[in-house]
Amino acid sequence: MRWALIGASDIAATQVLPALRQLGHEPVVVVGSDAERTARYATRNGVGYGTTSLEEALGGRVDAAYVSTTNERHAAGVHAAVGAGCHVLCEKPLATSLDQARAMVDAAAAAGVVMATNHHLRNSPVIRALRGLVAEGALGRVVGVRVAHTTLLPERLRGWRLGDEAGAGVVMDLTVHDVDTVRFVTGLEVLEVAAIGTAQGLSGRDAVAVAGRLTGGDRVDATLHLHDAFTTPHAPSAFEVFGTTGSALATDAMSQTPDGEVVLRRAEGSVVVDVGERENLYVRGLRAFADAVAGHGDPPCTGEDGVRSLAVALAVTESLQTGHRVSLGITGEIA
Ligand code: NDP
Repeated sequence: MRWALIGASDIAATQVLPALRQLGHEPVVVVGSDAERTARYATRNGVGYGTTSLEEALGGRVDAAYVSTTNERHAAGVHAAVGAGCHVLCEKPLATSLDQARAMVDAAAAAGVVMATNHHLRNSPVIRALRGLVAEGALGRVVGVRVAHTTLLPERLRGWRLGDEAGAGVVMDLTVHDVDTVRFVTGLEVLEVAAIGTAQGLSGRDAVAVAGRLTGGDRVDATLHLHDAFTTPHAPSAFEVFGTTGSALATDAMSQTPDGEVVLRRAEGSVVVDVGERENLYVRGLRAFADAVAGHGDPPCTGEDGVRSLAVALAVTESLQTGHRVSLGITGEIA
């Protein structure tokens, strides 16, 4: 598959380009805002060439575009790619407003191209193992989920993420991933959230605690707790699912690497769960995206999933701003 990269970003250089190379895909062109920097980026990262012109990049023979600009610019990149007939993998959060995100997904559907959201954690072996345990009923009915997405933001990423612009902050960076992963593991949707934020020295929005309720559509039946922080060194991330007959805890779960461990606890005792092959998350995701383009199945996280997970992140932001709990208003429409 021949790719245009829209955004000369860190994530493209560190994860997506190596994964594309491993799969034998061809990164034809990268589009950036600064001609010299983009040309250097192309050379350093083995991309065919760099340009500042979206039209030029998408006018050539490319099959797909990967959009990884800053969040407020995702919409423009996706619309340009879809307009040129390209399939699109867009970084999370899809956009900075729900209307924008919905319009992106609708445009892709109207053009008949595949659109996916790069919530990479759906490709994590430990997260997939948790989803398997829930699906096979190993925990009984899910009654609660707890996520600790606790990191120390690396120095090299302390730019726009710490600003005041739309799209910055811990919620649009980490909480949106948590929510998507909770939806993926449990099959439940977030019904309402209440959030409290603190400023712990990196920015005004560097740590947040979220409480929420999850629903399966016909009943409200699970609690949700999220702790997301840019300010917590030496804190392994965790994802824990509580059920009526057992619980499962994944440690190092909210990661870019296929590490981590899952422990299942039930009446008969505790066992470490075999999570299967520990494949690179981005390689798995890009292979599944290519399969979807070839007509085999859906990508791991569709555009629609990206919209739903963004909706919850925006509700968390609204709760932080207003001090009120915010309802997602989704009862009755959940598949
Ligand atoms: P970066 O800050 O590395 O890149 C974002 C944009 O900032 C680039 O497209 C580029 O603009 C500009 N930029 C980057 N470096 C420089 C520089 N040295 N000088 C001037 N401009 C620069 O962002 P990330 O890679 O951290 O994030 C990009 C997107 O990917 C975000 O949407 C983020 O949420 C998402 N992300 C997803 C992850 C995942 O695992 N799914 C992990 C990390 C990020 P231009 O291209 O216009 O030149």
